[in-house]
Amino acid sequence: MSEVAVSKDPEGSPRPLEDLVVLTGVNKHFGALHVLQDIDLTIGRGEVVVVIGPSGSGKSTLCRTINRLETIDAGTITIDGKPLPAEGRELARLRSDVGMVFQSFNLFAHKTVLENVMLGQIKVRGTAKAEAETKARALLERVGVAAQADKYPAQLSGGQQQRVAIARALAMDPKVMLFDEPTSALDPEMINEVLEVMQQLAREGMTMVVVTHEMGFARSAADRVVFMADGRIVEQATPEDFFSNPRSDRAKDFLSKIL
Ligand code: ADP
Ligand code: MG
Repeated sequence: MSEVAVSKDPEGSPRPLEDLVVLTGVNKHFGALHVLQDIDLTIGRGEVVVVIGPSGSGKSTLCRTINRLETIDAGTITIDGKPLPAEGRELARLRSDVGMVFQSFNLFAHKTVLENVMLGQIKVRGTAKAEAETKARALLERVGVAAQADKYPAQLSGGQQQRVAIARALAMDPKVMLFDEPTSALDPEMINEVLEVMQQLAREGMTMVVVTHEMGFARSAADRVVFMADGRIVEQATPEDFFSNPRSDRAKDFLSKIL
């Protein structure tokens, strides 16, 4: 087995050497609300970072700035060494490098499952139709919904729809996948089928940022837990460290409420 080079961050936890997503001094306001405050965050290639924190702490906004669904007021964000472009074709390409999966699935309602997974490949990547279909079918197989290919999203369960959303994001060969509470809208019996697909992706080495309240997933899949409160990163640590030894009062209070 090959050795993976690791560096030690100041807290002593190992992380991959190669930086993929780097946020430096990121600040964002919504009017008077300072929603992201001096965010410094580096995500290594192949790293799985789980972001947790109270409602309203800025987790979704953080995700949305990484694929520039939100602009920032100060600071820089780079992906693979390149700053986020402001607009146009470059921005479309960057967005396709950053796969995003939302709580609310966001599939195209009037397209079949297969078409949902083909569309971005054809429109953004310029992939030929036949090739896009082959790839879409393979991805649907991988997330366990190949039998639903010709149905419309409304004919699927929430868990199936979310797995299609993951397949659709993967079809763009993203460098990083962002998940914003991907299981929060699901009935309890469907949560695991989605988490299992995410676990598999993590094992395969996908770089992932996952906002979730699923602490079991955080413990088993995360390389690092980032805890946010009031627009700041309050602490970050390995899951073992964070769950057994939260340092800040905010984190202790949060964990006491959810565990
Ligand atoms: P979280 O995902 O951690 O619950 P959000 O990033 O969604 O937090 O929101 C952080 C804060 O920013 C909240 O107070 C929310 O009401 C506010 N907010 C989010 N989006 C907007 C927006 N588009 N305009 C104004 N305020 C917003
Ligand atoms: Mg949110």
